[in-house]
Amino acid sequence: MSILTFNNFNGYDQVALVRNEPSGLCAIIAIHSKQLGPAVGGCRMFPYGAEADALQDALRLSRGMTFKSALAGLPFGGGKSVIIGDPRREKTTELLHAMGDFVEQLRGSYIIAEDSGTSPDDMQVIAERTSFVTGIDESIVREDPSPATAYGVFLGIKAGVAQAFDGNDALLGKTVALQGLGHVGYHLARHLVEAGARVLGSDINPANQSRAEHELGVIPVSPDDILFQPCDVLAPCAMGGVLSESSIPKLKTRVIAGAANNQLAADSDDERIRQRGIVYCPDFAINAGGIVDIYHQEQGASPEDRARALASIGDRVAAIVNRAAQSAVGSQRVAEWMAAENLPAPLPENDKSEAELRGAA
Ligand code: NAD
Repeated sequence: MSILTFNNFNGYDQVALVRNEPSGLCAIIAIHSKQLGPAVGGCRMFPYGAEADALQDALRLSRGMTFKSALAGLPFGGGKSVIIGDPRREKTTELLHAMGDFVEQLRGSYIIAEDSGTSPDDMQVIAERTSFVTGIDESIVREDPSPATAYGVFLGIKAGVAQAFDGNDALLGKTVALQGLGHVGYHLARHLVEAGARVLGSDINPANQSRAEHELGVIPVSPDDILFQPCDVLAPCAMGGVLSESSIPKLKTRVIAGAANNQLAADSDDERIRQRGIVYCPDFAINAGGIVDIYHQEQGASPEDRARALASIGDRVAAIVNRAAQSAVGSQRVAEWMAAENLPAPLPENDKSEAELRGAA
């Protein structure tokens, strides 16, 4: 197994690349920060076209995990791993064992979890080679995190709506355009319908599309058009990078609030959205419900404490969008500042204070 490790790499604590010929493993572990604890983050398996794309995904996702855990007050750092390959064709026991060996080499700096392209069963296989795996303690019955994520997003949507509509967070009669009706999107659609919203929804998977239509009354929209529907709230719940230089000018929404990670294609899209007068609820703030709930489950929290922890997501999103409006700064930037305030030391890339940055603007 050949491992290449970079320490203090361009603002990242550690970045490690592995290649293992016998198993076919080609993977990257990115650790953005360990200030608050071990870097916890999922392992994504995807057939990236180029290794540079995989590296960029790992870097951006691990950075988001630092902010997500810090903002939510969890004792975790930010990390993420990616395996380059098609999970349906290339995922073997040998490959997962090699991934376990790779994680073990980092001696607990990174704790792996399932993500898109990997499953809880895969984590059990990885755990045959390393103990640095979340969710393998069989004494704890872990629930699917998606309903908790969806509920956090629902509360975040209400906070965004209150900001855009003079303090009124009612969803009755509001139109929500939902991209992605999978694990999170389906549960989110249910909350929205129950709150009286008109939900337009789109999924490239016909089974997920028809389940949402038939069970929840979601109004179908083609995947090409869903982002650009006239609506009050746009909820991206499929993949990252959907808010870009080309899509933002065509949006017809007052609020953007969804579960997808890395919704902004580039950091500058935060300002682009602000200049359009759209309230953006930052992804790592609004989609933390799953990790927050898992942490509290593992701590043995009562149902009341778990509910309180989830409810705090809405409060945090409200504080972010309000502070962004007051300071005329993009809300992603504000959320990063607020997360950095929970870190013991400044991040290398976040070492400018809010006042300095505002002064420079
Ligand atoms: P999922 O795979 O279950 O659902 C995503 C859905 O989006 C799928 O049904 C897929 O067919 C659909 N889709 C993909 N491309 C699309 C397109 N162009 N147009 C319309 N639909 C499209 O994933 P999920 O668990 O629901 O997660 C959704 C997003 O939220 C992901 O970005 C994920 O990283 C993020 N997220 C999920 C959780 C969680 O608890 N599951 C937590 C935090 C963040």
